[in-house]
Amino acid sequence: MKLSDKEWKERLSPEQYKILRKKKTERAFTGDYHDCKKKGVYHCAGCGEKLFRSEDKFDSGTGWPSFVRPIDESTITYEKDNTLFTKRIEVLCSNCMGHLGHVFDDGPPPTNKRYCLNSLALKLKETA
Ligand SMILES: [Zn+2]
Repeated sequence: MKLSDKEWKERLSPEQYKILRKKKTERAFTGDYHDCKKKGVYHCAGCGEKLFRSEDKFDSGTGWPSFVRPIDESTITYEKDNTLFTKRIEVLCSNCMGHLGHVFDDGPPPTNKRYCLNSLALKLKETA
C-alpha cells in the first residue's frame, strides 16, 4: 500500500504520523498497550495488516509493548538502523512500510527476540 505524504497525514493522527512515517518513538509508559493484557490481534495502525498476537506479548518492563515474534515473518520488514550511536534493527510493516519499532536479541524463550514496538503504531482488535 502506497500513499502520498499528504494522504498519510489525513489518515493518521499527528502522533501516529510521527511514528509510522517519520520513525519517531513514543515516550515509554505513555502508550495504550505496554501494560495491556487483553486477548486479540494487533494490527498495523497505518494499513490494518495483522502483525502480532497477544499470546506472543510479554511484559518487558520497558514501557513499550513487546512481543517475541510476529504472526508471520512476511508481514514484517527489517532494516538496519545506525542512528542513535548503536546498531539497531528497525521493524516495519511490509504492507505500508510504516515504522513499528525495533527488534533486539534479549527477549525471552522460545525466540529470545524482543520486538519493542510503539503502541501508536498498533491497533488491538480484541477477541472474546
Ligand atoms: Zn501497515
